[in-house]
Formats: sequence, C-alpha cells, structure tokens
Amino acid sequence: MTNDDIQNLKQLLSTPKNIVIIPHKNPDGDAMGSTLGLYHYLKKRHHNVSAITPNDYPDFLKWMPGEREVLKYDSNAEKANELIEKAELIFTLDFNALDRIGDMEVPVKDSEAIKIMIDHHQQPEDYALIMYSDVTMSSTCEMVYNVIEMLGDSDQIEADIATCLYTGIMTDTGSFKFSCTTHRTHNIIGTLIEKGADNSEIHDNIYDTFSYNQLQLLGCALQNLIVLHEYKTAYITLSQEELDRFNFKKGDTEGFVNYGLALKGIVFSVIFIENQQDNIIKISLRSKNDFSVNEFARAHFNGGGHINAAGGRSELSLKATVEKFISILPSYKNVLNRK
Ligand code: 5GP
Ligand code: MN
Repeated sequence: MTNDDIQNLKQLLSTPKNIVIIPHKNPDGDAMGSTLGLYHYLKKRHHNVSAITPNDYPDFLKWMPGEREVLKYDSNAEKANELIEKAELIFTLDFNALDRIGDMEVPVKDSEAIKIMIDHHQQPEDYALIMYSDVTMSSTCEMVYNVIEMLGDSDQIEADIATCLYTGIMTDTGSFKFSCTTHRTHNIIGTLIEKGADNSEIHDNIYDTFSYNQLQLLGCALQNLIVLHEYKTAYITLSQEELDRFNFKKGDTEGFVNYGLALKGIVFSVIFIENQQDNIIKISLRSKNDFSVNEFARAHFNGGGHINAAGGRSELSLKATVEKFISILPSYKNVLNRK
C-alpha cells in the first residue's frame, strides 16, 4: 500500500460514509476476523457500516463479537443489494478475485462505490481503486491491523477489534506455526493480547468445540487416508454417504487436510469431499516448503489460494477425481522430491 493510498483512504474516512465490508464465500476465521475487526474499527470512527457475507459460515465462528449483525447474502439478498447500491466504499477482504463472492459478484461490480481490496492471496485481480495486496502476509487480519496503524489509529484498537484480528491471525497461521508467521506477526499478537484479546478463550472457542459426530468423522477421514510415498503425498476422501453417516455440518471438516502433513516426510496433502447437493467435489490442498498448491489447484482443479494452502473443485465423480489426481502426480514427481 503506497503512501498515496493511505492518504487517499484517510481522506475518504475523514467524514462519515456508507460502507460495506465483504469477505469471500464460505468465510473462514481470517475472512470473518478481518471483516468484523474492520467493522468494529469503522463503527468506532462513526461510519455507517454493514458486513455482508456471501453465505453462512461454520458454528465455531459464531461467538465472534459483532457476528450477529452480519447479513448473509444468500438468505437476505434484497436488503444486501440495497446496502451495496447505497455504499460509498466497499472493502473486499481476504480474496483476490470477484468470482470468489459468488452471487454477490454482479451487484458489487455494478456498484459505483470506491473499492478497497485488503488481501494476501496470489495473483490478485485489478478491480479495486485502493489495493493492499501482499502475499507475504500471514493473514488479512494482520493487514487490517497494519491499515489501522498506518491510519494512525492504533490507540482505537479495543477488545472487540483485538479479539477478531487475533482470531484470524491464529487460524490462518495454524496457531502461529506456518512459515508466514514472522516476528512482526508475534509482535502484533502481543499487542492484541495487551488490548484485550483473550488468547486462551479464543483458542478454546475455535478449536475445542468438536461434537462427538465430528470427531467420529475425523476418525473416518483418517481411516481413509492414503499415503503415496513415491510422491511424498497423502490424500483423504470423504463421500457423501460418509458425511451423512456422521451428520455433517458446514465447517466439520475444517483442518482435516492438515493431518496428512503431520506424517513424517509428507510435503503434499489433499482432501476430496463429495458434495452431492452442488454436484461437485470440494478439494483442499496443503503443502510444505516451496511446492505451490496455488499453481497446482489453478492448473488442474479450478482453484487457487496461497503457495502452501489452496482450494479447488472438480465436477467429476469422487472416484474419477481421485484418478485424475493420481494421474497428474508423476509430472510433479521431481518437484515433490526436491530437498
Ligand atoms: P480451503 O482449503 O481452506 O478452502 O482454502 C485454502 C485457501 O485457499 C484459503 O485461503 C482460500 O481462500 C483459498 N481458496 C480456496 N478455494 C479457492 C478457489 O477456488 N480459488 C482461489 N483463488 N482461492 C481459493
Ligand atoms: Mn486469509
């Protein structure tokens, strides 16, 4: 973000504005944390702010301060369209391309509001007047912290803002262990605790809320785990029948893909989850070191994301998707076995 961008943003925020904040579809901890953190900050600055998600998010995020005020586009499109049309500023958070917001893409494109992107995904689209895109950042929450600081408002950060930003940094860094976690990330985390984020309670709210069914589903996923040592790769499948057996709810499989990487020597882990309702296989990909799952997902599975964490989809059957995946691996053998 250039100095001109900051001055421009400062100017725009110097008088009360109608503002809409939008995270990506199927929002995760970072998407919701950054959206709500920014929401509380802008409210404190006396703007008229609305947070609109394209769709619902998992229950383990439904304790976050301000969460009840979030409008969901898929169940409240009329009101949401009105707010988008009236908006003078639209912040788009934690995504790099407008097709990541599903049905909201058209109204947002059509809106005359000034668009401001804050995001850390690879290969951002050029739709925003003010663009703060930095793929080296741990999380969009860390970037929202930076924006507040650059605007000279660090002293405005109170417990609600701190709690939301802490949550997203924690979830996007895998609790501060991924390589995107820097000393600066830890410094910010320290400041957020100082400002009132209760680290232990936040961790508990996010991670220690498994239902019995969900833990059994994890057991099923681990039973299904296949290891391909030749490619330092592990993958998991979950069929619709298996999801139904354990009464699957949105968010229940969050984090399952990481178990593949817990295996010694494995650098590439993938989970394939059947969704019969949408007729797709949802794919999550994770890696270690410099193997880019962003490139892999873009090239083969209609997706993208970061170097070490990406998502994608397949319109083939679960079996055919896995077969396609296995048939692709030989062309990555050298890269996967690189030291
Ligand atoms: P997840 O596997 O948790 O759904 O996604 C991992 C990361 O990749 C997240 O940062 C998410 O925003 C990003 N991601 C997931 N699906 C897609 C996709 O279809 N396109 C792009 N560009 N990014 C994705
Ligand atoms: Mn993120």
